[in-house]
Amino acid sequence: MCGIVGLISKENAVPGVLEALKRLEYRGYDSAGIAVENGPGIERQRATGNIKTFEQHLKKNPISGPTAIGHIRWATHGIVNETNAHPHKVGRVAVVHNGIIENFKELRAELGGAGVNLESDTDTEVVAALIDQNLKTDNPTNAVKKALANLEGAFALGIIIEGVAATIFAARRGSPLVIGFGNGGTILGSDTMAIAGIATKVCYLEEGDFAILKADGAEIFDTSGKKVSRDLHPLNAKATDLDKGNYAHYMQKEIFEQPTAIADTLGKYIDLLEGKVDLGQINFDFKKITKLNLIACGTSYYAALTARYWFETY
Ligand code: GLU
Repeated sequence: MCGIVGLISKENAVPGVLEALKRLEYRGYDSAGIAVENGPGIERQRATGNIKTFEQHLKKNPISGPTAIGHIRWATHGIVNETNAHPHKVGRVAVVHNGIIENFKELRAELGGAGVNLESDTDTEVVAALIDQNLKTDNPTNAVKKALANLEGAFALGIIIEGVAATIFAARRGSPLVIGFGNGGTILGSDTMAIAGIATKVCYLEEGDFAILKADGAEIFDTSGKKVSRDLHPLNAKATDLDKGNYAHYMQKEIFEQPTAIADTLGKYIDLLEGKVDLGQINFDFKKITKLNLIACGTSYYAALTARYWFETY
């Protein structure tokens, strides 16, 4: 399960989507791609390998448009090659997808029966094909909704449709998705890290939500189809906090940032002038606490096991 980005901008959305994909690089992936809706139609570029390779590919084969979706893939269905890389496009529809469509074999067979040719080995391409089929009889919103009702599995989706300007359809079931708003436009991401460079406010889609992103906002519908509003949160993370800076990779950055991170955390409670520790802001009395849960995994879990003894002494 890798990364999704989408951006509706007043200018060319491709540089913003590329930047957002770079911020997702920490996740590990095997290929990358971007598709744009630019009036005449949908254009896309994809490449196997890392973002730098994709960026070079994009320089040689530029695409541009105000609405773009992008993806970094961690292959689950089909080998790593350009044909299997996202965005997938069938007819008028381009799709980026995180996760797995479990009933893709049945859907492939049905689409094959209807004379639709699929070019990739992925589970994702059936989503684009289903929506494209529905567009023959339905308006874009209903075409997407109907396709979603046929899908089983865990997924996050970003969808653009040829001729439907400044619009990204999004849906989540099992995989996270966030929508961000800022001066640079309306942005979709599989995590806040991706959208932090552009968004100043963010809302988190809930399980089963379907959303229609526009240049000036987003409409969100819950599993029952009811229009809902999701809380907006300020996004304070600066892009500089999130990118790799001058470090070779994120783990190196994390290691070198430890002194600052610890100072920032403890700084709140330490009065260096008086040489005192003040836990005033902590709104509870340790003496009254009978149980404390430390929740962590990996190295943090081992740190928590040690911290357990420290806490017990109090
Ligand atoms: N199942 C899809 C594929 O294999 C999406 C994988 C992902 O989440 O990156 O292409």
